[in-house]
Amino acid sequence: MKIERVETAYYRLPLEPMGDAGHGAIDTEELITLTLDAGGLTGHGYSYTIGRGGRAVRSLIDDDIVPMIVGQDATDIRGLWELMWQRLLYVGRGGLASFAIAAVDVALWDLYGLSEGRPLYALLGAEAREIPAYGSGVDLPKSLDGLLTQTEGFLARGFPGVKVKIGRPDPGEDERRIEAVRGLVGDDIDLMVDANMAWDAEEALERGRRLEHFGLYWYEEPTIPEDVAGHARISREMDVPVAIGESLHSPHEFRRYVDEKAARILQIDPITNGGITASLEALKMADSAGLSTSSHYTDELSAHLLCASKDPVYLEKHAFALDPYLEEPQLVTDGRVRPTETPGTGLRFDKEALAPYRAS
Ligand SMILES: [Mg+2]
Repeated sequence: MKIERVETAYYRLPLEPMGDAGHGAIDTEELITLTLDAGGLTGHGYSYTIGRGGRAVRSLIDDDIVPMIVGQDATDIRGLWELMWQRLLYVGRGGLASFAIAAVDVALWDLYGLSEGRPLYALLGAEAREIPAYGSGVDLPKSLDGLLTQTEGFLARGFPGVKVKIGRPDPGEDERRIEAVRGLVGDDIDLMVDANMAWDAEEALERGRRLEHFGLYWYEEPTIPEDVAGHARISREMDVPVAIGESLHSPHEFRRYVDEKAARILQIDPITNGGITASLEALKMADSAGLSTSSHYTDELSAHLLCASKDPVYLEKHAFALDPYLEEPQLVTDGRVRPTETPGTGLRFDKEALAPYRAS
């Protein structure tokens, strides 16, 4: 089944202004959609950014990846992943290259599902299962009232967990915000915090310790992803599990965290990690090391992928919901999600809904 044609489109989707301690203000999501034709079928993939770099991702696909994969066998997903990784190695080894590889890899898995007539989770060798979901805001700039209103919305949707951004300049403010959210949700709801790499390891320890007594479910990205030793130290010295993954752009990066016992929960994102192929490897590493798993954004793909994990504790229902742009938005029932049963990924963008946001 030879790859005949690959086409991309680029969109700028407006977001309600939001932000976190690491990435600053965010008001746009870039979306790169991709279709890949082979054997009379069309696989659909995509990539995204939080507002910058998307045109470069699209250019990497159009200018560099498409010429290397047209004419290749679409069923050799692993081989094509290695080809893209190797040919982009000099400028890649992660970063933007992983976002570009991901768009193609997602389309290849989708195409494989269409050709087999099976949903993605089944292709991964998994059984469909319900995954608990948590409500996740990108809420650092929100007032305390705004944060509590958002949290009430999460509770109304039945989520068994909620996550709050931390990293306000005044540590006392983080404490007051977490105390207020804990007071609102009570002790039966899991409460995660996310620092988005705001601090060095020393400060991350100090800031984390001030919040630990609120009963945190995990402490996400306490410091920069390059500081694996720092994460390992925080994991050793704190009882709260460290969670990472959205900023890891290859299986090699996950491998270091697992080998150095630097995290207890691996969070997959099949776009930022470099594709379904890459995230699946991360899940297998978690299984081998006895770690739990969760997801970052990518709600629809992750509902499939987490079925292939031994201990998928949560799927993130992210603030950048793609729902308005999808033909079939993901259903959340009693705060839980299931993978779709249609062949492939089940993820299809609504072209009419996206049309006003198309850009070049
Ligand atoms: Mg995060």
